[in-house]
Amino acid sequence: MSGTAADRLAILGGAPQFAQKLHVAQVNLPPWDRVEAAFKGIFARRFFANHGPLVRELDETFARVIGVPHAISVTNGTVGLMLLARTLEVRGEVIVPSFTFPATVQSLSWAGLDPVFCDVDPHTHNLAVETVAPLVGPRTVAILGVHAWGRGADPLRLEVFARERGLKLIYDACHGIGCSYAGRAIGGFGAAEVFSFHATKIVNGAEGGCITTADDELAARLRTARSFHPSETFADVDVRFNAKMSEAQAAFALLSLVELEQNRVANRARFDAYRAGLAGLPGLELLKYGADDANNYQYVVIEVDEARLGLGRDRLLDALMAENVICRRHFFPGVHRMDAYAQLASARPDALPGTEYLCRRVLQLPTGQAVSVGHVEKICLLIRRIIEQREAVAAIG
Ligand SMILES: *Cc1c(COP(=O)(O)O)cnc(C)c1O
Repeated sequence: MSGTAADRLAILGGAPQFAQKLHVAQVNLPPWDRVEAAFKGIFARRFFANHGPLVRELDETFARVIGVPHAISVTNGTVGLMLLARTLEVRGEVIVPSFTFPATVQSLSWAGLDPVFCDVDPHTHNLAVETVAPLVGPRTVAILGVHAWGRGADPLRLEVFARERGLKLIYDACHGIGCSYAGRAIGGFGAAEVFSFHATKIVNGAEGGCITTADDELAARLRTARSFHPSETFADVDVRFNAKMSEAQAAFALLSLVELEQNRVANRARFDAYRAGLAGLPGLELLKYGADDANNYQYVVIEVDEARLGLGRDRLLDALMAENVICRRHFFPGVHRMDAYAQLASARPDALPGTEYLCRRVLQLPTGQAVSVGHVEKICLLIRRIIEQREAVAAIG
């Protein structure tokens, strides 16, 4: 048992380790003087919407950063996914993982497409040809992959598979800014990929998103569909939308893009501190990023093996939350268990064993600009103390 009251765990009645809450993916903010200068420019131009100079600059800059011919900025990642799914101009079923943010699947529903859930490999957390292939049927028109935690979702093999079957392949790359797979940047795979500039992502546009593609014709349709404004017409589309990004969002995203590398390096330092601090704990494994692939280290993901650790994932979460270490269980309970989708034939939990397994085991730990390496070291010591006291922690009501 723990000795003094000072080191008693908060869940056992002690004071929280941290006075302020530490969150997963804390917001990255550029220095205020740069924000002020950018917004003075917007005020001076009095140009706020409808593809102003900053949105155009962002489209060009992001295309260059990712290394693709076209980048089409939009209001947010979800709208980007909706717009892309609708602009593919197909009807039928789309194979999509359930181990994802709900918006991935909801975008298909908005586009009038029918999601079919596929399982993920519990080692990679991603779909693969093996999990997709058995689900292809006469109504299948596309595959919407997700690069979970920025790790490429079998893109090389799925490109070949999709081409052979005549299916469209698109990706939710919302986690993937600055990431690569087999030497190729995330953003250049399939027909198109969609990124998010949400405040929790490594590039923060105060909301915002971007679609990248090498397909000139698809890019023209996306640029047309993103605006209801007739002057923005590059191709024939059957329906248009208002998915335009504002100048204010573009200003934020451009400033944040300048800091991408520095934020990536800082994330890496926190990740390395977690790796050192959690080494050698049986039953608690830190998800690793491949040495050959670039990653942005925006997510620190652990897997809890209850039998080996002697403590369940949810009880570990409760103990950490009590200390103001605000962890997340993405993507618990899995999109297939949401009311809107649970009735689908593909949503049967026994058909998604890899997804169910991960939803029971994964936890994301705090990182981002407001979390220092010192915080990380303290969090790791705290996790060790919780594990030392697991019997007392497990015993509470
Ligand atoms: C953040 C996220 C989205 C949604 O992006 P928004 O810009 O918040 O709409 C979609 N899919 C995944 C995997 C995400 O992480």
